[in-house]
Amino acid sequence: MPRAMQGRWSVLNDSEDIRRSEWNTNSPRSERSKTLFEEIRASIYNNDKEESSFWRPVLPWGGVFTIKAGRKAVSCIPLYVKINLKNTCTIDGFLMILYVILRDNQGFSRELAVFLGKQFVEYFLYLMDSCDYTTVKMLWIWDRMSKRQYRSEINQAALEIDLFGNEHENFTKNLENLMCTMQECLCSNWSCPARFQEFLKTTISISPPHTLPHRDPIQSAVDEFFCPKLVLCSELGCDGLREFSQRIFCHGPPPFVILNMQQWKSEELSYVPYHLALCQHRYLLEGATLFNKEEHHYSAAFQIDGCWIHYDGLRSDNLVLLQKPPELLLLSSLVYIRASDK
Ligand SMILES: [Zn+2]
Repeated sequence: MPRAMQGRWSVLNDSEDIRRSEWNTNSPRSERSKTLFEEIRASIYNNDKEESSFWRPVLPWGGVFTIKAGRKAVSCIPLYVKINLKNTCTIDGFLMILYVILRDNQGFSRELAVFLGKQFVEYFLYLMDSCDYTTVKMLWIWDRMSKRQYRSEINQAALEIDLFGNEHENFTKNLENLMCTMQECLCSNWSCPARFQEFLKTTISISPPHTLPHRDPIQSAVDEFFCPKLVLCSELGCDGLREFSQRIFCHGPPPFVILNMQQWKSEELSYVPYHLALCQHRYLLEGATLFNKEEHHYSAAFQIDGCWIHYDGLRSDNLVLLQKPPELLLLSSLVYIRASDK
């Protein structure tokens, strides 16, 4: 169990035994020989026309995490015995895509562990494979999110955690320095109060190109994000020109990138590239998260061996095999994985 998570358990109760037993009783280790990923992949290949959905719910919306007090708890009064999760769609789609990426790409787990910790990554995969979906959400909330990113309140004997909000806040921002990029800049004016500066960004938010039409607007926007540029210096009283270097990844090209597409309108998304050149590396489209404004609800789509699957935690059939690649007109994000150098 990651340390941050253990620390938070002490809020519940001082007893070590209780903390330990919670995770054990909430993690029904199944005897299945296949990983969840292998089961989903097998269902794609066994699929016949009538049966286009996976045979059981995967990562359903919300969740109830039950805390069963251990023997020693008799002497203590637990603060609450149940945790109700609400509006989890702000993390669900990404957790699903993250799981598929890690299981489908050998070596990516090790790379991600550098940023999120080996224990976190191993436990995440273990919980997903055990179909312990509420615990996997608790792992994300307690190990990755900060307290100000969600609302929680105690309601009778239950703690309610509400993740209503934005998935880029609740998920993408909590990937540490995985996608961290840096750009240096220098002002032409020798008396500039801040001549040399460094700019770090930990997420990749791209804007639609100003001049349309573009053959490949998303690639253009990514190029724009990384390219060197010359702008008027914004330091007070300085009239110099500020030259920005090429943007680079601080820790090398990450195994996957999430492009924040919130600024894009549907009409600008008629073309979504399957291949993307990103800072001199080739990336391939793996999935996307979609946002329905009217319902304020997120869902996701991802591909396995070129077959596209739509995920929506609110539906009872929540993994549905699509007959063709989805229309990505309501994008919240695009997820690309690094192509192997072979
Ligand atoms: Zn300046």
